[in-house]
Amino acid sequence: MAQISETKGIILFSRDYKEKDKLVKIFTESAGKVMFFAKGIHRANHPLQTAIQPFTEAVFIGNMKTDGLSFLNSAKEVRPLRKLQEDIFLNAYGSYILGLADAAIEDHVYDPALYGFTREALQRMNDGADGEIIMNIFEVQIMQRFGVSLNWQGCGVCGKKTGAFDFSSKYNGILCQEHWQLDHNRYHADPRAIYFLRLFNSVTYEAINTINLKPETKKTIRQTLDQLYEEYVGLHLKSKKFIDQMSEWQDVLKPKNEK
Ligand SMILES: [Zn+2]
Repeated sequence: MAQISETKGIILFSRDYKEKDKLVKIFTESAGKVMFFAKGIHRANHPLQTAIQPFTEAVFIGNMKTDGLSFLNSAKEVRPLRKLQEDIFLNAYGSYILGLADAAIEDHVYDPALYGFTREALQRMNDGADGEIIMNIFEVQIMQRFGVSLNWQGCGVCGKKTGAFDFSSKYNGILCQEHWQLDHNRYHADPRAIYFLRLFNSVTYEAINTINLKPETKKTIRQTLDQLYEEYVGLHLKSKKFIDQMSEWQDVLKPKNEK
């Protein structure tokens, strides 16, 4: 079945196809992720050229098929997320978010909740919110789409909800300090990292206006998240590798006003 239809969407990526054409993958609101064929798009001043730039949101019009290749005809209400296109850090965080969204669900799976969650992450970064925190919230909450369900609510043994916690693979969730001895292979994570991961698991992006993190805390959150992803998701995206490399040289580039 194919029909001309229009849908809101976010560009996931595009790549050249032969000399004049492109394949464009779009996360659409109404049909999930769809691979489109864009014919003759390398022609000078092709109207679709700005619409298929990375970090662009638009209403895309095309011939959409439920399987196989769909055809992209035109676009309207094109909204580039300029800061993500221009800032190398936001660009990296945004690329990873899109990479995770792309990996988490199959093509053509209708998932307006994930679409909205992804869209809002990028939009808020573009509006100036802390990109790393947005990315972390996204990472924690999208784990569920990979089929990973972890207990962040309370200690897996006694249910306690306050105090210092560590993460335990044995319990697939958090353990309170009194029960740490039940799992010698627990993460030995920084309790601050666990505190924020629990918070990130339950907040909406709005909450980030009230969260202010020191670079050291961000680092421990990053380490714990990496450990969780290694164990439960096992994904190795190029965009994530770039973030890892970036953190090695970002100290040199960033202004030192975050004390
Ligand atoms: Zn306990």
